[in-house]
Amino acid sequence: MDLSVIIPCYNEQECLPMLFDRATAVFGAAGLDYELVFVNDGSKDRTWPLIEEFCASERAPHVRAVDFSRNFGKEPALLAGLEHAGGDVVGIMDADLQQEPETLLAMYRELLAHPEADCVAAFQSTRHEGKLQAALKGQFYRTFKAAADGCGDMIPGASDFRVFRRDVAEALLSMPEYFRFSKGLFAWVGFETIPFAYEPAERAGGTSKWSLRKLMAYALDGIFAFSTVPLKLATVVGGISSIAAVVYFFVVLWDTFGLHNTPHGYPTVVCLLLLFGGLLLLTLGIIGEYLARIYLEGKHRPVYIARRTLSAEGAELRRGGFERNRPNFGHRAR
Ligand code: UDP
Ligand code: MG
Repeated sequence: MDLSVIIPCYNEQECLPMLFDRATAVFGAAGLDYELVFVNDGSKDRTWPLIEEFCASERAPHVRAVDFSRNFGKEPALLAGLEHAGGDVVGIMDADLQQEPETLLAMYRELLAHPEADCVAAFQSTRHEGKLQAALKGQFYRTFKAAADGCGDMIPGASDFRVFRRDVAEALLSMPEYFRFSKGLFAWVGFETIPFAYEPAERAGGTSKWSLRKLMAYALDGIFAFSTVPLKLATVVGGISSIAAVVYFFVVLWDTFGLHNTPHGYPTVVCLLLLFGGLLLLTLGIIGEYLARIYLEGKHRPVYIARRTLSAEGAELRRGGFERNRPNFGHRAR
C-alpha cells in the first residue's frame, strides 16, 4: 500500500460526498495503491451511513472506517486513523475540502522526491481568519515554542495537514498519552520535516467545528501537555511575592514603631490581601491543572471507544470492541 489518507469526520454530511468524489478521482488518476481511513467522531448527522456507502463502493480500492461511540475530538480521531492506516506513507486531511486532495498528492510527491525527509507539513501561506484569531494563534505558537520541552523545531502555523512515512506513524503511536496534541507530538518525535505552503480552500459545506472557547482549551491543553514551565512560573512568582512580602513586613514595622502611622494602613492591607490571594489561587490553579492531568493519565483510559470498524469490503471487522492505545503497536493485528 503506497498511501493511507486519514480523514477525521464530525458532522460532515455536506462535505463527504464531494470529498469522496475528489479524493478517489485525484488519487486514482495518480495510479496509487491507496486507502481512505475515515474516522467518524460521533457525528449526529448522516456521516456514518455515507461512510458505509463509501466502504461498499467500487470507486476506491480500499476504504477503512472507524465509528466512535461518541464525539471524542479530532485528536482521538487522528489516533484511531493512525492505528488503522496500513500504508508506507500516511497522510492526514480534513473532511471539509479546505485541505484539498490535490495538495495532499503534491505533498506525497514532494516526500517521495526527498528520500532524506520523513514528513511534509503544510502551513497556510496566507491566513483567512479574523485579526484577533490570527493574533491569538501567533501568540500561541510563540508561547508554545518558548515553553514546550523538546518541541523547539515546531514550524509556526504548521497544521496536522501532513504526509509522513511509516516510521513517523509508528513513533506517534508509541506515545500512549491521553492528552494528545498533534502539533506538539509531531515536533516531539522529530524526524526531517519539509514545510509546504498551501492556500486553504473554502469549506465545501457545513460549519467549522471549532469555537473560540474550544480553540482556547485546545491551546492550553497543548501547553500543559508539553511544558512544565507554567509550574516553574508559579514557583518564581510565588518566590518573588514572598520576598516582596518580607520586605514589606519591615516597611510596616518601620511605619508602626518609627513613624507611628498605623491607623492609615487599611487600604494597603486590602490591596495586599487581594494581591497575594490572587497569586495563591493562580499558583494553586496551575498546580491543579497538572494534577488533574496526572490523575486522568493515571487512569489509563483508552483515548477513544469505537463502536465498530469497517474494512474495505464493507465487512464488519469488530463490533463493540475498542482499541486500547498501548505502546504495543508492533504486535497489533492488521
Ligand atoms: N473534527 C473531528 N472532531 C471534532 C471536531 C472536528 O473529527 O470534534 C474534524 C472535522 O470533521 C474536520 C476536521 O476535524 O474534518 C477539522 O475541523 P474543522 O474543519 O471544523 O476545523 P477548522 O478547519 O475550522 O479549523
Ligand atoms: Mg476546516
